[in-house]
Amino acid sequence: MNLYDLSFPALQEMLAAWGEPSYRARQLWEWLYVHLATDFDRMTNLPRALRERLAAETVIGAPAAVDTLVSADGETRKDLLRLADGETIEVVLMRYERRRTACISTQVGCAMGCAFCATGQMGFRRNLTSGEIVAQALHFARHLRRDGERLTNVVLMGMGEPLANYDASLAAIRRLIHPQGFRLGRRHVTVSTVGLVPGIRRLAEENLPITLAVSLHAATDALRDRLVPVNRRYGLDELFAACQDYVKRTGRRVSFEWALIAEVNDTAEQAQALCARLVGLKAHVNLIPLNPTPGYAGRPSPDERIAAFTAELRRCRVPFTLRLRRGGEIRAGCGQLRSRRDERGG
Ligand code: SAH
Ligand code: SF4
Repeated sequence: MNLYDLSFPALQEMLAAWGEPSYRARQLWEWLYVHLATDFDRMTNLPRALRERLAAETVIGAPAAVDTLVSADGETRKDLLRLADGETIEVVLMRYERRRTACISTQVGCAMGCAFCATGQMGFRRNLTSGEIVAQALHFARHLRRDGERLTNVVLMGMGEPLANYDASLAAIRRLIHPQGFRLGRRHVTVSTVGLVPGIRRLAEENLPITLAVSLHAATDALRDRLVPVNRRYGLDELFAACQDYVKRTGRRVSFEWALIAEVNDTAEQAQALCARLVGLKAHVNLIPLNPTPGYAGRPSPDERIAAFTAELRRCRVPFTLRLRRGGEIRAGCGQLRSRRDERGG
């Protein structure tokens, strides 16, 4: 049993069943989420017998990095983590000004099949457990602690579709923001979705100020059907209705992700359709030139097409950020992850 798979009440229940006094749960929780302990021997305020039982019957799931890439400017780091069953996932740490952001995964692979996405190209392998999701953030928190720093932000934008692994993703978020534990800022969590409308509606009811990011990439159903197949199930009208409701319920603006693909979605027609969709919606658009992947022939938009597209957004006053390739290939890698082991065919 992985202790990071347990909520605080579940941990309390386990220790109560073991006949422990109730304050032990708080102590153990702090070892896990404040001290980020990976070793029961360090938990010196727990009786030896309890430490021995914990060591015999539970594990502290802290997957090891089996490979690491650091960007030339040192600001971005990508680790390949090996899970207990041998599957590997990639996680990215980005340092930007005072922010320390972990981009974490929710599934091994993904079933959504977006044409341009490396994770989609590998297909679906399995869901991650809540503990495996939590562990990715803690992995970087331990790393940052060595430099006297803290993790400030978490984005569920790595491998997989968080709203297709809804319960584990939400349980992980609740564990990370727990006030007696890791204490991640509630407003510093972003969930990125391909647009699973029932999941968006459920998320709006959680009473959490989570930032919703929707991977839009196209503003007409004809084009989005091709790029993001799930659009055939939840079309743009339904998707934008859910986004409107999300803003209404949470007061948060919605982010729309848009990977600029030359001559595909960087046209004047798409820019205008995007403007029309965003009228009256509290929204922000994140533009990023497509990161080319082996399984997709599309090319990133060249500078002059990006300039024309952004001019159109400026004209209709849509707020946007153009994510430039600072940190190079690794920064761009958040959201387009695929384990290199897998690329090698293993
Ligand atoms: N499944 C979720 C979260 C993971 S994907 C989602 O789709 O939102 C994270 C982000 O990376 C998404 O916005 C996705 O569309 C984007 N992305 C995937 N492949 C990309 C590529 N090759 N170039 C640029 N962005 C890409
Ligand atoms: Fe899955 Fe997101 Fe990639 Fe689409 S873009 S295949 S939903 S990980």
